[in-house]
Amino acid sequence: MKQVDVVIIGSGPAGMSAALYLARTSLSFVVLEKGAPGGKLINVPHIANYPAQEDLSGFMLAQQFLNSAARFGVEVTYGNVSAITKENDIFTVHTDDETYEAKAVIVCTGFSNVPSIPGEKEHMGKGVSYCATCDGRFYKGKRVAVYGNGDPAIQEALYLAPLCEKTYFIVPDELKATELFVKNLSSNPSAEIIESAKITKISGEPKVSSITVLKDDKEEEIEIAGVFPLVGEKSASSFLLNLDVEMEKGFIKANDMMMSSVPGLFAAGDIVNKRLKQVVTAASDGAIATNGVLAYLNSRKK
Ligand SMILES: Cc1cc2nc3c(=O)[nH]c(=O)nc-3n(C[C@H](O)[C@H](O)[C@H](O)COP(=O)(O)OP(=O)(O)OC[C@H]3O[C@@H](n4cnc5c(N)ncnc54)[C@H](O)[C@@H]3O)c2cc1C
Repeated sequence: MKQVDVVIIGSGPAGMSAALYLARTSLSFVVLEKGAPGGKLINVPHIANYPAQEDLSGFMLAQQFLNSAARFGVEVTYGNVSAITKENDIFTVHTDDETYEAKAVIVCTGFSNVPSIPGEKEHMGKGVSYCATCDGRFYKGKRVAVYGNGDPAIQEALYLAPLCEKTYFIVPDELKATELFVKNLSSNPSAEIIESAKITKISGEPKVSSITVLKDDKEEEIEIAGVFPLVGEKSASSFLLNLDVEMEKGFIKANDMMMSSVPGLFAAGDIVNKRLKQVVTAASDGAIATNGVLAYLNSRKK
């Protein structure tokens, strides 16, 4: 059992920002990460909307987050958090092979994609993918579909369009994304944007060979080799089951100091229920959460 003042879970923009701020205090802490350090960013080809940085890949930005914190001695520790309990104001954080005791926890675990379309789960790894940068090369010269809305989804389509014979960007409602991204995708002759449409089925045996698309009450089967369904987002929060954390729309409800309904349990970044899930807001949340942790720990001393 290791004892620290604070456990940060996740090393994406929210976690590394929280770590950077914590490193300047006298508190002891650990950053636990179950995957590659850097979070979701590492697979994003181009980052938009991050102030003071232009023409930057997600991988480069993630490295900058990690390097900034490393300058203050922050290291990312491998650990897949499986459960958290709380007793007498002390949190016990369980990973697969270590246990940590802490006075406060900052949850920065983002979200993952959970299958929501008939045929999606069965075809995972057989034509269903959630990351164009990781799997796009398998579909070179083939026909693919990206299903979702907003900047993350359109960026996946933008990555695939120059690579694939045809890229359908199917948007469940009205398309909402950065104007430049929309312009770039619309001007690519191999891309087609279909708005207000739903994928109702993913078919193929054993690999994906088609999707069924419902638009204006009519169903159409479209032949494709790969589909990127980015609609079934679920917060990465299953390890919180033992704590009675108040959730909103499946994401953590946090106050203006990023504290959840459980005193001492803070949340930052995409795991929080909020309107804008971006790098800049994740980093901001991490900074605010650290401030919240300091205020919370000081209030306990009184
Ligand atoms: C394709 C795509 C393109 C995007 N483009 C942009 C863009 O151009 N501009 C922009 O501002 N934003 C963009 N975003 C959004 C941006 O990447 C996120 O808002 C940001 O990464 C959120 O940071 P985070 O730290 O909250 O979570 P994440 O970056 O998701 O990091 C969470 C970390 O927690 C770890 N983790 C999860 N569960 C556990 C556990 N149980 N134990 C230990 N570790 C755990 C994960 O492995 C991960 O490393 C894009 C996202 C995608 C998917």
